[in-house]
Amino acid sequence: MTIQFPFDNSYATLPANFYARVAPTPVAAPRLIKLNRPLAEQLGIDADWLASPEGVEVLAGKRVPDGADPLAMAYAGHQFGHFTPQLGDGRAILLGEVLDRDGVRRDIQLKGSGPTPFSRRGDGRAALGPVIREYIVSEAMFALGIPTTRSLAAVITGELVQRETMLPGAVLTRIAASHIRVGTFQFFAAREDSEALRHLADHVIARHYPDAAAAEYPYRALLAGVIQRQAELVARWLLVGFIHGVMNTDNSSVSGETIDYGPCAFMDDYDPATVFSSIDEQGRYAYANQPRITLWNLTRFAETLLPLIDPDQKTAIEIAQGLLAGFSDIFDSAYQAGLRRKLGLFSARPDDALLAQDLLAAMAANQADFTLTFRRLGDAALDPAGDAALRDLFTDPVAFDTWAVKWKARLVLDPGDALARHQAMQAVNPAFIPRNHRVEAVIQAATAGDYAPFEALLAVLARPFENQPAYAGYADPPLPDQRVMQTFCGT
Ligand code: AMP
Ligand code: MG
Repeated sequence: MTIQFPFDNSYATLPANFYARVAPTPVAAPRLIKLNRPLAEQLGIDADWLASPEGVEVLAGKRVPDGADPLAMAYAGHQFGHFTPQLGDGRAILLGEVLDRDGVRRDIQLKGSGPTPFSRRGDGRAALGPVIREYIVSEAMFALGIPTTRSLAAVITGELVQRETMLPGAVLTRIAASHIRVGTFQFFAAREDSEALRHLADHVIARHYPDAAAAEYPYRALLAGVIQRQAELVARWLLVGFIHGVMNTDNSSVSGETIDYGPCAFMDDYDPATVFSSIDEQGRYAYANQPRITLWNLTRFAETLLPLIDPDQKTAIEIAQGLLAGFSDIFDSAYQAGLRRKLGLFSARPDDALLAQDLLAAMAANQADFTLTFRRLGDAALDPAGDAALRDLFTDPVAFDTWAVKWKARLVLDPGDALARHQAMQAVNPAFIPRNHRVEAVIQAATAGDYAPFEALLAVLARPFENQPAYAGYADPPLPDQRVMQTFCGT
């Protein structure tokens, strides 16, 4: 028999208290609704076999493939600021790891594949809607060039799950650099199991931060590395208008990938206070709060590493605080550099941050669409006639005109011709994002058995920086009656 998954499992070799061995629960009548063929190829898995009845049974958790070591990972976490010492994979099972075509180790995880010892009162299942949302948004993030887990496949199980109503059940096959979270470290820190912590930290260094292994103080280098990647990640989120929605420490990956797409959404009108998640009543995870929350989560991460940083706690705290203090500079420089690129600036000047801030303030005061404003700014850089479509995005177009005078004065001081500027801007300012109203419409259609809108949306979002005139409508913000105000985690 040929080997269908080239498994090379490492997490399963860690001590037994890192996970619970558990197989997926078989489902009634699995059916493939989406397979990510290019990703399968990148993982060295035969896409045709995955689409075969046998492959689909694997993707649905009905059959455990050769070489898999199915397990549910243990983790803890702060959810909305409250600590729970044991969460763990309650509805996800890690099948194993493969080395992809580039030699990068990738987890293959089934999400929605049945109960585990960590399920608590949950059913271990996922409804179709959240599976589709995660598939769409994670693949859109990938196409936008943002570090993220990915989606290999979605299947429906042929069973119903009970949420507020009965909904079709589904399983997502998720691919990640790893599923190790800040909460994984917290799990062992809460148990004061320093041996396990060291083991976990060594595993993470080997897997995600190999340079730290050679550093004088590897665990300090690990903390610095995670701070760096998380700071850059959250800057990337802000630059595309992404709102994660549940930035709990158990949903924060130490590899620096975006993970656990729940009630996530992209904003339409620019408003820093935007919140979509129905359960985020205080706006803890609002758009503009995300950098602050990232730092809060990193601080929880640093706390778990203290015993590894220095045997003297006071010294360890000082060192950790010093590294955490570096967060805002890393974030600011990533965010400001990103804003300069969005404005089409090739050079940096001290007033650029103010110029960007003025535009964002005018957008917020005038309900200007975040994505379209920047996209059309790129058009206006090439052809000043483009200003008309741009100023119309502002309730008071004069607010744009006033700002544009400053922008154009700044461009005069910037090297580069109009065409180069236009092209550079279109390469960072997407035309297409997963607009919330589109995602909701796709979910509704799929729940009624029609997957064509899902396919169409995925195809458009795979090329977010191209104009795609035939699909221009996908770039449009919602009409007032299409506006989606709330998203749900669907757990
Ligand atoms: P989440 O909000 O999706 O990040 O999940 C938080 C915790 O709840 C994790 O430990 C999940 O495994 C668990 N969980 C979420 N949904 C379910 C479910 N349907 N069944 C069992 N556990 C779940
Ligand atoms: Mg989670």
